[in-house]
Formats: sequence, structure tokens, C-alpha cells
Amino acid sequence: MVTPLTDQIDLVRQIIAHWTSGHGAVYNPQRRKALALVNIAEDLHQVIEALGQGGRQPQVVVTSAKGAQNAIGYDRMRRKIKDGSPYLLVFGTGWGLAPAVIGMADYALAPVRGETDYNHLSVRSAAAIILDRLMGCERL
Ligand code: SAM
Repeated sequence: MVTPLTDQIDLVRQIIAHWTSGHGAVYNPQRRKALALVNIAEDLHQVIEALGQGGRQPQVVVTSAKGAQNAIGYDRMRRKIKDGSPYLLVFGTGWGLAPAVIGMADYALAPVRGETDYNHLSVRSAAAIILDRLMGCERL
């Protein structure tokens, strides 16, 4: 989770604590495992640096409901991921990713689209669809 806002960082810490050591940890141990994986950073540079400590720095892949020039498609991105290089997939919140974050991207992923013009998904829906397209085992 990346945010410079201290109140947001506090909120994320509270949510993680609830599910990892509070009542939530007993209520849903599966969620405890997942939430225990969450780290908090104040900016994306910290994340890139932390992930790059093992050797190769990740390439940054941004997502948006809006199309970008030179956007990369899912098949191409999926093939790239298979080469074993590290990629950092970045999702935004309410208004999407800040322009400064988009400016750090090595790749902008093509937006998920349906049959209508409206394609502004909740981040969890977008993440689920995109992760399935890029990492899912079942290819129809
Ligand atoms: N207006 C924002 C935009 O254009 O990205 C929508 C923000 S949406 C509530 C939160 C996040 O979900 C976005 O930053 C993006 O990461 C992801 N997202 C939402 N709709 C998407 C789509 N159709 N394709 C790809 N990612 C999407």
C-alpha cells in the first residue's frame, strides 16, 4: 500500500492489525495470511528500491481506466512476465494514479473494456480481472 498521507497510513495499519492480530485473525485465518503480506510505503520509489534489493529492479506497469498511447496489451505483458523479470503492477484509488506515478511507468497496461463506453471499475474488480488475465492458469 503506497500513500504519503499519515491518516491513510494509520487506517491501513489499523485494518492490517485487525486481520492479523485482532478478532479478525481468529475469525478468518486465510485473510490473516493474506493481510500479513501487506507492506506500507510512503512513495513508489521506496517500493522499487525495496523490491530491487534482491538484484534486479522491477519494471513499473501502471493501470488505468483511460487508454494510454503505446499501451501494452495483455498477451504481450503476459509473455513478458513469463521471462522471469520482476514487474511491479500498480493500481490506483478513487481518482486513479497520480500523473507523477504514471510518469514513472515502463509500461501502461491497456484498460479493461466492455461493450459500453463506461469502464471505470472499482480497484478490486480491476485487480481481479487484470491478475487473472496476466497470471491466471486457465486460458480459454
Ligand atoms: N478514473 C480512474 C482511472 O481512470 O483510472 C478510476 C480509478 S478506479 C476507482 C481505481 C483503480 O482501478 C485505477 O487507478 C486502476 O488502477 C484500476 N482500474 C479501474 N478501472 C480500470 C480499467 N477499466 N482498466 C484498468 N484498470 C482499471
